[in-house]
Amino acid sequence: MIDRILVVGAGFAGATVARSLVERLPGCEVTVIDTRDHLAGNAYDAVSEHTGHLYHRYGPHIFHTNSQEVVDWLSRFTEWLPYQHRVRALLPSGQTAPMPINRDTLNSHFGVSLDTGQAVSDFLDSLRLDIPSPRNAEEHLQSIYGPELTELFYGRYTRKMWALELAELPISVVARLPVRRDDNPYYFNDSFQMMPRNGYTALISRMLDHPQIAVHLETPFDKAMESDYRHVFNSMPIDEYFEEIYGPLPYRSIRFEHRYGEAWEQDVPSINFTDDGPWTRKTCWALFPGCGGKPGGHVTYEMPCSYEDNNFERYYPVKTVDGWPQERYRQYAELAKQKDNMTFIGRCGQYIYYDMHQAVANSLMIARRFRGNAAGPDV
Ligand SMILES: Cc1cc2nc3c(=O)[nH]c(=O)nc-3n(C[C@H](O)[C@H](O)[C@H](O)COP(=O)(O)OP(=O)(O)OC[C@H]3O[C@@H](n4cnc5c(N)ncnc54)[C@H](O)[C@@H]3O)c2cc1C
Repeated sequence: MIDRILVVGAGFAGATVARSLVERLPGCEVTVIDTRDHLAGNAYDAVSEHTGHLYHRYGPHIFHTNSQEVVDWLSRFTEWLPYQHRVRALLPSGQTAPMPINRDTLNSHFGVSLDTGQAVSDFLDSLRLDIPSPRNAEEHLQSIYGPELTELFYGRYTRKMWALELAELPISVVARLPVRRDDNPYYFNDSFQMMPRNGYTALISRMLDHPQIAVHLETPFDKAMESDYRHVFNSMPIDEYFEEIYGPLPYRSIRFEHRYGEAWEQDVPSINFTDDGPWTRKTCWALFPGCGGKPGGHVTYEMPCSYEDNNFERYYPVKTVDGWPQERYRQYAELAKQKDNMTFIGRCGQYIYYDMHQAVANSLMIARRFRGNAAGPDV
């Protein structure tokens, strides 16, 4: 008998569940639907008709992970190009400095000559506030960098990004960035850092290329579909599914502005803006490996906004120190537990700030649990 499964969302979460199930669940046929007219969810990339560059429509997506399992799984669908991401922050002086803050950042901003890790530690000791148990992102940062650097590198940026004060945000929002005492200029520490050779859309397309997977784009989920399937794996926003009966979950969104022919003098692909202007970041696609196109040429600016002001594009789940969004999500998660025929997956289904590798790892786990571990590992 055919086991019919519906997957809502053709992003990393949905594609991973779909592929894992058809390979390991005998008789399983999966239908994947997505509202959008393309695969790969927010990781979608495409060749620019203006410049020939491969660019990411929803902002730069950098692959990084410590999970060998995730790398092995994804490597079945793509080759990789080595890539370690670098970012610089544009300061009020007009200079740029490495972000996350490192020894070079401190030397150039304060005009000092710190030459060892110990010298950096001693210098930061002279700046930092003594806060033994930080309660929020501001206290966490001030306990490492002190108030001046916290405001300069994180304060205004965060207010733009989240429309919240640092003191309102949990530590986890800023603790993703490493604290450096050397001159390591890279953004991440993970043991695997690379980009898919032909891009994310090609990767997801290969994942979904299977005779037992049917993909329907421009097809929004409708509750009437549920009765046609044994189970639904759903990456739509969980509050939207339950018609916001507990109120909407807060999300932050971003508007992207593409500029063509703009000069780029930096040797890093992303610049963070630390000022009060509307932009948080700009990215030059030509500096990513395998991006093709002409040098310079295509620069994308990011302006955070509410999702209501951006066609209901929900990008970042918002978590606060007082925990009200988390509590509202828990109410929806309780409702979801009562639905035996549905599992919520991915960033919006689980209301978690997943990176791509985390969405994959979680979806592999969910698929494995559903089909029974007896069917064996995915890789
Ligand atoms: C600006 C930005 C930058 C990012 N940078 C990075 C990065 O550098 N590195 C990294 O690892 N991760 C990054 N991420 C996170 C990455 O995008 C996510 O981890 C990944 O997209 C999660 O995949 P997903 O499948 O959960 O969600 P999504 O990619 O959002 O896919 C969900 C899909 O479901 C579809 N959908 C929603 N509702 C419905 C419905 N009702 N009916 C049908 N379809 C529906 C949507 O159209 C969407 O295509 C970034 C995210 C953003 C927004």
